[in-house]
Amino acid sequence: MPTNDLMEKLVSLCKRRGFLFPSSEIYGGLNSFYDYGPLGVELKNNVKRLWWQSMVQRRDDVVGLDAAILMHPKVWEASGHLQNFTDPLVDCKQCKRRFRADHLLEATGSKPDLGTMKTPAGLPKVCPECGGELTEPRRFNLMFKTFMGPLEEASSVVYLRPETAQGIFVNFKNVRDTMRPKLPFGIAQIGKAFRNEITPGNFIFRTREFEQMECEYFCHPREADRWYDYWRQERFNWYVDVLGINKKKLRLRDHKRDELAHYAKACADVEYQFPFSGWSELEGIANRQDFDLKQHATFSGQDLEVTDEAGKKFTPYVIEPSAGADRATLTVLVDAYTEVEGGRTTTTESNKELEVVMRFDKKVAPIKVAVLPLSKKETLARPAREIFDALRSRWTCTYDEVASIGRRYRRQDEIGTPYCVTVDFETLEDKKVTVRARDSMKQERIGIEELEDYFKDNL
Ligand code: ATP
Repeated sequence: MPTNDLMEKLVSLCKRRGFLFPSSEIYGGLNSFYDYGPLGVELKNNVKRLWWQSMVQRRDDVVGLDAAILMHPKVWEASGHLQNFTDPLVDCKQCKRRFRADHLLEATGSKPDLGTMKTPAGLPKVCPECGGELTEPRRFNLMFKTFMGPLEEASSVVYLRPETAQGIFVNFKNVRDTMRPKLPFGIAQIGKAFRNEITPGNFIFRTREFEQMECEYFCHPREADRWYDYWRQERFNWYVDVLGINKKKLRLRDHKRDELAHYAKACADVEYQFPFSGWSELEGIANRQDFDLKQHATFSGQDLEVTDEAGKKFTPYVIEPSAGADRATLTVLVDAYTEVEGGRTTTTESNKELEVVMRFDKKVAPIKVAVLPLSKKETLARPAREIFDALRSRWTCTYDEVASIGRRYRRQDEIGTPYCVTVDFETLEDKKVTVRARDSMKQERIGIEELEDYFKDNL
């Protein structure tokens, strides 16, 4: 299937079935902002919950945090964001389109040097869209600025955080003082971040408001290489083992020396092969050495060192796995999307219709079980409701009694529900229901009494 087709179909399915809506759509939308609908919020919550479980709840060496979005402006001076968090921007004088100079340069096969303001040799002089003249590149800071309090003056400027990581670094001392963790230990956080991206796009791949899932793992400098290798592999495995993403479409890409930020000793990206852009970053894992803690120690005047067994003071190194919750959710959606030409169902009027199946891993599927009475009649609706009420206390379930059973199965396939439970007239006699599995379409008769155990084993 042509790649654009696939994305078009996925975007339309997301809208039609309540995964994602354009933000403020009744006013015409706001460019590249999206709202998660009823199914989307379940899906994204599952992604975040699985990350939190793996990174915090099931580990002895990582604790959680939820820091404020607005922070002291000095934070961004210390972190370097005020000075360096910029993209080189060029405008087309003719069609007024805007481009990132590094993207234009990359498209010519040259390597961008983002450290300088100078026009890099080889930067195209004309617009790739209309052939118009391009401006010289200008530096553009990606942080959203706002004002605290009633006066819009320089002294009241604050920034929407462009990453969650700094909230962790500035709480390093608080966490140490209160929780007394021994090195190595990590602090993890999930939260919103904001970047005034020059070219947002590709659905929720790059937006100006997004959510990050970040962990800062502090360790002794002599152990940093080992922990870097550990997290690099651990985070790759998470996408395969926990999110259930196809391993063939994932890879780890180590950054070359000249790609590294000046403070990073090593960095690797977990990448997914997206239909719209090829291999693209899902998560970065970096050895940031002692850069961040040292900067904050200098700017705040606080002691952020620790003492080793020999009584020697040092600043810990940090390994940072930094992921995007929305990019992970997009990956789950793209990876699950499957079309079956001619249809899977051969017994009903659905024959020959194209069927869409979202093959979500059961752990991420927004709805786990759909309860479907064969008819709306009270004789079937009552027991079906009772089963629905019993199951929904443990799993996210839905109840659907509208349309033919074949059509209802397809509706559930399209939103990736792993199991359907059908209550029919036989149920009234044998106290059994039909459980239908999404992927195999296998149907089994299971006693109502055994249903909970069945799903406990299978979900
Ligand atoms: P890019 O090069 O794509 O702009 P980055 O290298 O600046 O990304 P990081 O600063 O390393 O990204 O952010 C960590 C993670 O946060 C990314 O791997 C991605 O999953 C997510 N992320 C970053 N920017 C955005 C965005 N604009 N929209 C959605 N997710 C984002």
